[in-house]
Amino acid sequence: MRTVTAYATPAAKAPFEKTTIERRDVGPHDVLIKIAFAGICHSDIHTGRAEWGPVNFPLVPGHEIAGVVEEVGVDVTNYAVGDRVGVGCMVDSCRECDNCRAGEQQYCTGNADVPRMIGTYNGIGRDGRPTAGGYSTHIVVDENYVLRIPDALELDVAAPLLCAGITLFSPLNHWQAGPGKKVAIVGMGGLGHLGVKIAHAMGAEVTVLSQSLSKQEDGRRFGADHYYATSDRNMFKELRGTFDLIVNTVSASLPIGQYLSLLKLDGTLVNVGAPAEPQEVPVFALIGARRSWAGSNIGGIPETQQMLDFCAEHGIGAEIETIGADRIDEAWDRVVGSDVRYRFVIDAATFES
Ligand code: NAP
Ligand code: ZN
Repeated sequence: MRTVTAYATPAAKAPFEKTTIERRDVGPHDVLIKIAFAGICHSDIHTGRAEWGPVNFPLVPGHEIAGVVEEVGVDVTNYAVGDRVGVGCMVDSCRECDNCRAGEQQYCTGNADVPRMIGTYNGIGRDGRPTAGGYSTHIVVDENYVLRIPDALELDVAAPLLCAGITLFSPLNHWQAGPGKKVAIVGMGGLGHLGVKIAHAMGAEVTVLSQSLSKQEDGRRFGADHYYATSDRNMFKELRGTFDLIVNTVSASLPIGQYLSLLKLDGTLVNVGAPAEPQEVPVFALIGARRSWAGSNIGGIPETQQMLDFCAEHGIGAEIETIGADRIDEAWDRVVGSDVRYRFVIDAATFES
């Protein structure tokens, strides 16, 4: 075991505290990563405020990790000391179920040892110990769950790609956003702004549906062709039957039926936003144009590498505001208030200072 510095929240809605945690010894297939940057995802907040269910406190969140390999296990073949790497939302899975074998480890159905994908934090590792995330100086991860960050991407703007980036890339890829497709992104926060950039780079015609027009200029700079405020109720009439695909990134409940009505025949509304409360769906909004309402969870390891390579090729990184560890509480409040442009990233050097 090695003791490393981390920031933890001791209870739901309690302020962060500097602490130490134990990281396991570097096993034969493990990589020890010195963390450089950790993104703040809204999922950290849903989890840390116990909105999604039971939490193993004290909690060290963080599943948008970018850093440099500091040590490798004897059997590691993919990575060497000094490599630039990332870790996203999972650090292991059963590796045996159909979904794991297909590279869709995020949908792991489990076996006797590992019942589901092992979350980077608030999970239980194969060693039976709680997992702890990227709000810390170092992490030890099996090489099969480590991603390579291309040289063209700086580590700070790459960190948010490990969750926000893949969470948008995967549905856009699966539902074939591309030339000739009309795609709407609902909510332009951490996930949404990367969705705009990625959908634009894929060649789709991109529309942002945001609460107001306050971020319109930014949206256009990210590649949006159209930008609407959802506070303008006429928008729902004007855009009725327009989109092939809508990706909803909103962290709160929305009137889903109204958004479904914006889809054309056979269109799909994909929820990646994950409010805790059940959402109501009027079935006639589905029946009326053979529409689908779907969900999507991050992406598998191969697809995450594909996304990083795609982003490097297209010059896509997150728009970030870098903060020190002493500002995590303030940043969480600002994310909840939709006051984020567009992802907070913690400089891991400040965990120790
Ligand atoms: P975020 O940065 O807070 O962005 C969410 C955006 O939604 C806000 O910027 C805001 O955009 C809009 N919004 C917030 N509250 C709203 C409200 N009451 N009504 C209408 N719009 C509202 O959060 P994020 O990190 O992108 O995460 C978004 C959601 O995705 C969270 O629920 C998170 O847990 C979930 N998530 C899911 C996955 C997955 O795999 N499915 C992965 C990561 C995160 P505008 O200001 O533009 O309206
Ligand atoms: Zn996340």
